[in-house]
Amino acid sequence: MNATAKKPVKRMGLLIDYEYCTGCHSCEIACKQEHNYPVGRGGLKLTEFLTERPDKSLRIDYLPFPTMYCNLCKSRTNDGESPSCVKHCQASCIHYGSVKKLAELMESRPHAALFTPI
Ligand code: SF4
Ligand code: SF4
Repeated sequence: MNATAKKPVKRMGLLIDYEYCTGCHSCEIACKQEHNYPVGRGGLKLTEFLTERPDKSLRIDYLPFPTMYCNLCKSRTNDGESPSCVKHCQASCIHYGSVKKLAELMESRPHAALFTPI
């Protein structure tokens, strides 16, 4: 084996478990403040989905959707800190880690989305 061969870099991402997301916007605001994004730009965009149940009642789901501006808070995570959105979600909906670990965690989360930046 080539002694200079590099180990593959772990792919990192966010797991967004929106089961208990209240739509409070704290993650969006924390991201904007961390990166000083101008109005209209941010690493997360909170989206709301309305679904009509068979009994005609409405189900509301909130999903913070990562945008192209999310860089996984590289300056924080390089220092061993959590991404700002992870730190400020009081419902612990957002998880940061290797895609492999997050996919394992996802097995037990019925309403979750896995995000990895390009
Ligand atoms: S990981 Fe950082 S950059 Fe990405 S959405 Fe969360 S706070 Fe914003
Ligand atoms: S993910 Fe957390 S911080 Fe973001 S809107 Fe949902 S509950 Fe609030």
